[in-house]
Amino acid sequence: MKISKHGDIEVVKMSVNPLFRVMDIYLYFMDGLLVDTGPSIRKRGLIPIFKSWDIEQIALTHHHEDHAGMASWLAEHTDATIFGHEKTIELVNKRAQLPWYRKLFSGPRDAFQASVYPQVIQTGKYEFYPIETPGHTDDHVSLFEPNQGWLFTGDLYITPYPKVFLKEESMNAYIESIEKLQQLDYQTIFCAHEGVITTGKQMMDYKLDYLKGLKNEVIRLHQLGLSDQAIIKTLFPKQVKLEQITFGSFSRLHLVRSCYMDEKV
Ligand SMILES: [Zn+2]
Repeated sequence: MKISKHGDIEVVKMSVNPLFRVMDIYLYFMDGLLVDTGPSIRKRGLIPIFKSWDIEQIALTHHHEDHAGMASWLAEHTDATIFGHEKTIELVNKRAQLPWYRKLFSGPRDAFQASVYPQVIQTGKYEFYPIETPGHTDDHVSLFEPNQGWLFTGDLYITPYPKVFLKEESMNAYIESIEKLQQLDYQTIFCAHEGVITTGKQMMDYKLDYLKGLKNEVIRLHQLGLSDQAIIKTLFPKQVKLEQITFGSFSRLHLVRSCYMDEKV
């Protein structure tokens, strides 16, 4: 676990799982506001950090256990208000029913109460506007600080060139969400798995172009009559690490299907 500073922002970087170091996660804290809470499997390292901060407000980007896993502890041990999308709030009322490998990897996500996002989260120095950005999940929210040009993107960015999707991820929703974000005047993105990206807006442009191009290409091949497997062989012939280590939760097949599922083709 490593804490660094990006200007005024405290950045905590850790591998989600302490043994299987295949994925990092980043938490951000500034002026009393914590963005995402980290996975409960990391509680031993995270609790002292949380205790050393004066956490007044918590913003959840979405309900996944690597982001909301420590929220129940924070709800119990701090006076902070936890904000989430109304869909997040419904989901986190109950303990997450996770497949065994996700529970093993990130730890459980216990139940907690959260409040629906206000129009703007005010801290002493900053203002953060929650922006609905579905794509990765239905309940995904990004946070925009217009005076600083900051955008906290949760799991919306991660890579400009994804080859795999979760079953619930939506190509159309990703494209619409990124188009919405590109109207905003921001520069730096704070990604939950890749850290601080000062060329964030440009990288999001790359992602948008890639997703639109990929969607069109999948639809073209699908209309030519190629099967999903044939499309995968054509566009993504190589094995993808994330597909292997998540037992296919992330897969090329989910991505391919998402490209044409919402279209009348
Ligand atoms: Zn996620």
